[in-house]
Amino acid sequence: MASLRPTLDSRALVRGIQPRLRAQSRIVAPLVPRTVCQVAKVDETVSMEEELVRLRRENELLRQQLALYQQASKPASDAAAAAGAAPVAASAAAATAAVEVLEAPATVQEPSIDGGILWPTAGERFWERAPRTAPAPLECGAAQQPPLQRDANPLHIVHVTAEMAPIAKVGGLGDVVTGLAKAAQARGHEVAVMLPFYECLPTDQIEGLKHEADVEVPKGYRWDGEMRVGSLRTSVFWGRVQGCPVFLLRPAAGTNSNIFRGGRIYGGSYNEMEAYLYFCRACLEYLRASNQHPHVLQLHDWHSAAAALLFWEAYNPGAAWSRTRVMLTIHNMDNTGECRQDEFSFSGLPGEAFATIDKALDERTIGHNPERLNLMKGGIVYSNAVTTVSPTYANEVLNGGAAGWLRSTFARPELRSKFHGILNGIDTEEWDPATDPLLPANYDAERPQGKALCKKFLQQGLGLSVDPRKPLVAVVSRLVPQKGIHLIQAALHRTLEAGGQFVLLGSGHSDGVFRGLAEGKLRNHPDCSLKIMYSERLAHLIYAAADVVVVPSMFEPCGLTQMIALRYGAVPVVRRTGGLADTVFDVEAAAAPPAGAARNGFVFDGSDEGSLYGALDRALALYDKQPGRWAALSQDNMRLDVSWAKSAGSYVDIYRSVAVA
Ligand code: ADP
Repeated sequence: MASLRPTLDSRALVRGIQPRLRAQSRIVAPLVPRTVCQVAKVDETVSMEEELVRLRRENELLRQQLALYQQASKPASDAAAAAGAAPVAASAAAATAAVEVLEAPATVQEPSIDGGILWPTAGERFWERAPRTAPAPLECGAAQQPPLQRDANPLHIVHVTAEMAPIAKVGGLGDVVTGLAKAAQARGHEVAVMLPFYECLPTDQIEGLKHEADVEVPKGYRWDGEMRVGSLRTSVFWGRVQGCPVFLLRPAAGTNSNIFRGGRIYGGSYNEMEAYLYFCRACLEYLRASNQHPHVLQLHDWHSAAAALLFWEAYNPGAAWSRTRVMLTIHNMDNTGECRQDEFSFSGLPGEAFATIDKALDERTIGHNPERLNLMKGGIVYSNAVTTVSPTYANEVLNGGAAGWLRSTFARPELRSKFHGILNGIDTEEWDPATDPLLPANYDAERPQGKALCKKFLQQGLGLSVDPRKPLVAVVSRLVPQKGIHLIQAALHRTLEAGGQFVLLGSGHSDGVFRGLAEGKLRNHPDCSLKIMYSERLAHLIYAAADVVVVPSMFEPCGLTQMIALRYGAVPVVRRTGGLADTVFDVEAAAAPPAGAARNGFVFDGSDEGSLYGALDRALALYDKQPGRWAALSQDNMRLDVSWAKSAGSYVDIYRSVAVA
């Protein structure tokens, strides 16, 4: 049965300030029921400028679609010539097929797999345009999905998060929120996501976007060197992203706040700590004002961890919220949200109330003046359940060094017992080589031919030598120390020495060394392309083209790239840590993989170059010497279940274990 409040009762400490806060927090615009989608509301809340941008974009897309249909109705040879696709122009078979379709429309032809590909030229930003004349994917059919399970007694789950793919994705956090939300929704639960309304969000990808309400949110301000609590009028919008309901929150127009403004998700000109503390408070304030009582509030990482503290201390959950429980999901312990006590007041609540060892005091700062708070620690203490994203990482947190400065927090029995590791899945609709519209050719385990065309497409577009026999080794990653920068470099050089090709897509504060190589020694190299940038579209093309995907992380809570690689028929080479150890099993290991898993890649243990070479060399040798076995491995990998099916079930179990019946 669910325990109510997590581990401690410090409510008395903050009781004194509650009446004042409650008086400040009032809703200032009537809430519009979600089902009533009023056009007038849209006009009120989306500025003319935004609407013009949206319409222009829509027009541009329509024009592109029209052009593609017009091209598709021409013989394939014309289309290929128009695309300037000399070396690998549409095959004679494709041209014949096109002529046959034109002359004898009654005959149903099996579509030619390479007809209609708009082959790129080197130097072109080919990933930014459609890869085929036909806008729809080939009639390959979606890859097989595990059967969908519907749960009885659906729950109401609300995620509070800083990222959500594809509209606000920086790394795996965004993928996980969307994938898990969709999977739980598909099982019959009522799910919604609360996300900052970053200025840079692509609003054209948010279906039915409309203004929902304005609320006054309690908030601390610096005034004459002191923190004072006032309020910030906040606008709440609603829409759907990939079918999932999303609430988007930002300071109302005219408030002069720069929170969530700027061209990027993180690193805008505003104070990030202030912004996420305000966001946590605003989410709770809106849920309260709109009378929503979810069974579970699922918080993600330090950005939303403070909502657990605020929920129990500022709202004194009573009658209205008596059924709501809080859960924190830790995606990475690397950043735990160190916060000055006075800064915490941006949330509208004084930080001193939490500055004790049993609550949120950051133990690293004991003896400093002033001592600080650690939001992740507070989130762990104040949540009814805490999860992280793989069983091995959970074990590393509890028993290895992964908890870092939070190791004494995780030494507390009452906190250990509510901590669980659940492996992430990937969104298999978004990542499906059989239907992926970003690929020049679709494929699956039964019809794998399209993968070779994807490789040729990428080689040609990146200006690499077009050679089907060269192993294409890829890395798609944030470039930060966690990801094993020295090992990525080692993989690059080893691959080139072995006569293979290396493609990197990544960016981050440790990308300098790769920028240097891309602009210097490896510029225009026929076997190496280093793209120091972020591009979701190019990532899809790289996974589809890759033979090998290297993930040599120093630590990896779960890792999604190795799972996407498997789904796209690439073979992962990984360092045995965290979720990589739970998802990749060496093809040459004597020990059998765990039940339900398969030998699917190459694994190494050390953190030196020699250890990486051991695994990478074995992969390249298998590719070179045993093409038949390699092809079978690639196809078997495509068949593996890396979906959310199983993991969503584990999350539902945790939701039920804390939820009030
Ligand atoms: P993390 O969350 O630590 O960044 P994960 O492996 O969990 O690592 O998730 C990374 C996600 O971000 C994957 O979907 C990967 O394809 C994507 N990704 C990482 N870097 C880039 C990039 N430069 N361009 C496009 N996608 C990227």
